[in-house]
Amino acid sequence: MDKIEQTARKWLKDRGVTPDDIAELVYFLQQQYYPNLTKEDCLQNVERVLSKREVQNAILTGIQLDVLAEKGGLQEPLQSIIQSDEGLYGIDEILAFSIVNIYGSIGFTNYGYIDKQKPGILAHLNDKSTGKCHTFLDDIVGAIAAAASSRLAHRSTDSQ
Ligand SMILES: [Mg+2]
Repeated sequence: MDKIEQTARKWLKDRGVTPDDIAELVYFLQQQYYPNLTKEDCLQNVERVLSKREVQNAILTGIQLDVLAEKGGLQEPLQSIIQSDEGLYGIDEILAFSIVNIYGSIGFTNYGYIDKQKPGILAHLNDKSTGKCHTFLDDIVGAIAAAASSRLAHRSTDSQ
């Protein structure tokens, strides 16, 4: 594992997100379609998504901006926009799309659905009372789950 992957994984962990948390989201999205699906299958797909450089780059960029916003380290007007997670900003979603894109269009449906439902770790990341800024991270985590779900769906179709 190289420096970029190590750092991306460490920063995710430091911000309170484990691969297991993301695997739970994949299970939430896919269990209705695959009755024999296991958490282990979900985790394996999350791990493969996390091993992609495009995904690591998105993680590093998004978390860096969240952390700087939390410390008040950005310049205005960006500081207020990111710190308050302003609804019309939209660049957090655009960055997340770079992850969803990797596994094709069905990822977008999964991403939209999970972004509305906000199960598991996503509810925690969206809890503003924690004092943390997760403007980018919530979308990145949802996108990794959506991408892993797409990967899982493509693989199971290919093997039929
Ligand atoms: Mg966001």
